[in-house]
Amino acid sequence: MPVDSKKRLQYPVNSQKRKYNPEWEVKFPWLRYSESEDGTYCSCCYAFAKSFTSNDPLISAPFKDWKNAIGVKRGILTNHEMTKCHRSSMVAAENFMLVTRKEKESIKESLNRSYSDRVQKNRDALCSILDVVILLAKRGIPFRGRWDKSAKRDNGNFEYFIHWLAKYDNNLSDHLSSAAKNARYLSPQVQNEMIDCLGEVICSTLVSKVNKSKFISIMADETTDVSTIEQLSVYVRYLDMSSVINNVEVDEVFLRFVPLPRTDSATITDLLIDHVKREEEILLAATNRECLPTLSDTRWLSRVDSISTLLVNYSRIYDAISEVMMQSTGKASHDASGFLRALFQQFSLNIS
Ligand SMILES: [Zn+2]
Repeated sequence: MPVDSKKRLQYPVNSQKRKYNPEWEVKFPWLRYSESEDGTYCSCCYAFAKSFTSNDPLISAPFKDWKNAIGVKRGILTNHEMTKCHRSSMVAAENFMLVTRKEKESIKESLNRSYSDRVQKNRDALCSILDVVILLAKRGIPFRGRWDKSAKRDNGNFEYFIHWLAKYDNNLSDHLSSAAKNARYLSPQVQNEMIDCLGEVICSTLVSKVNKSKFISIMADETTDVSTIEQLSVYVRYLDMSSVINNVEVDEVFLRFVPLPRTDSATITDLLIDHVKREEEILLAATNRECLPTLSDTRWLSRVDSISTLLVNYSRIYDAISEVMMQSTGKASHDASGFLRALFQQFSLNIS
């Protein structure tokens, strides 16, 4: 109870004809009087003391020995103020008030900030390592090949560039020197995972770009890599609609390599179809693309839609078929030539 309560409280007199003196609260601001118990407590120790017994005066039991309350040698209140327990409680209480008044960061906030700082530093270190991965991939430099074989360094190009970058990147340098050996993000497995992750991001970006096009074609070619593994390289050809309207361009993007168990046409066709089916995003977008409808022999009304679509896309269709005719051979080129001739004769005559 605060010191100004002295104006309204009547303190009981004990058998020694002594009673509580509210003026003590001026010298000992932590002192609080309990009217129901006619005793006093140390408010700081009552709330923040860590070690005490069940009958400690001023902490867990009311202090009532008014005769020995103050005094240089025998004063209980004076001696209590000098105890280690009370000092610790005072520090805890002061911190509590500072945090309550938002003048100091709480332990939880401090831990959260420390955790956030650690997460941010790890992310920054990971970004620096990813920069090296991107650099090596862009320049076509093998990750685990030696940069200088005559120097007999066995840490490979990846670690060579990582440590080179760490000379100028303090955060990366700290990460390399302080992180556990199994958490440095440098192992061959982590290198492969980062390459796969970057590949997925690039593929997703390309697919997103392709999906904006109304017309796509999927192409594949069989190749053999340096380790003589047969593989199918899959490309998508599409109209790049990202440029200015009416200035679209035909673009080709490589999506990925697909291992080939055999090189016969049936295997290549099956793998290509399976792979394209797995590219769900492309297929989903493909279902929304505009298709050239066929002419119905019986539903004459549907022919209006068919002809309208053909007229709207006439120049693009003409260019596409022309390119097929020029770049293909055999039946494909012959069919394309026939389509072009039919388009020219039918529409040039009818339109004129
Ligand atoms: Zn105390």
